[in-house]
Amino acid sequence: MSDSLIPFGPVTFITGTKGGRYPYCHSLYIEEAGVLIDPASNLEELQLISQSKKAETIWLSHWHEDHIMYLNLFEELPIWMHEADAPPMADLNTFIDWYIYPDPAYEKMREEWGQMMVEMFNYKPRKISRYLSDGEVIDLGSVTVEVIHCPGHSPGSLSFYFREPQVLFLGDTDLTPFGPWYGDLYSDIDEICQTVERLRKIPAKVWLTSHEQGVFESDPGSMWDDFLRVIDVREEKLLAFLKEPRTIAEIAGHWIVYGKPKQPLEMFALMEEISMQKHLDRLIRKNIVGLDGDRYRLV
Ligand SMILES: [Zn+2]
Repeated sequence: MSDSLIPFGPVTFITGTKGGRYPYCHSLYIEEAGVLIDPASNLEELQLISQSKKAETIWLSHWHEDHIMYLNLFEELPIWMHEADAPPMADLNTFIDWYIYPDPAYEKMREEWGQMMVEMFNYKPRKISRYLSDGEVIDLGSVTVEVIHCPGHSPGSLSFYFREPQVLFLGDTDLTPFGPWYGDLYSDIDEICQTVERLRKIPAKVWLTSHEQGVFESDPGSMWDDFLRVIDVREEKLLAFLKEPRTIAEIAGHWIVYGKPKQPLEMFALMEEISMQKHLDRLIRKNIVGLDGDRYRLV
């Protein structure tokens, strides 16, 4: 068996290229049932699966491009995912709308992003054959899977709990030091917190994630708290920066989430801004921050 494949009973973990860092993720494959989850890990391994004709169904944890890059190898296969994440799969403009404001000021970025989706991520509109929903239990032969709806990172994010081997696939609740990502228009910080609290209670023996380390064979323990704590640390930095009233452009330019400017600059600047906007909205709801004209200030 190739070094990239790690079996956990009937569930095979396919290690992503670049250690499963963006633009790649790790995939899962349940060969006996022909189920392949998130085909954006390792081109060679996915080509072998495609050529074997043994994959029958693609499951997606969510709609992001780093989980669907090699869907083009499986054009004939039905896709199952949560209904809430289906719209961007069906139409490239909708896909772009979920990342970038539909505003003329962003027209050039929308064009470039769309081009990148097609050229680098092989984007093609796909119809979803079946919607997976929370609490569903699916019999895959020697393994039973429980579908867990985990909104927050995206509206329709899913985790999968493989009951017999007690393997929990966490998707982008990836327990990385970077912390939770909520840089697209429909991600939600409070939902991410609820999702983490729900997932950590599941009585798993192995935890698999979509990025970086990917495999945890003992309880991640404090990593759950560390992951959530990143949200608080970002918020503390934002509040410290708001000692003086600031515009959203100044706040985004402080790079609290990414730490420093990253390339492509306009895209990362927008994701930084959207993430910060979510913190600001949350702080306004709690009456900790207010908006005067175009400047955010402490209340
Ligand atoms: Zn994602």
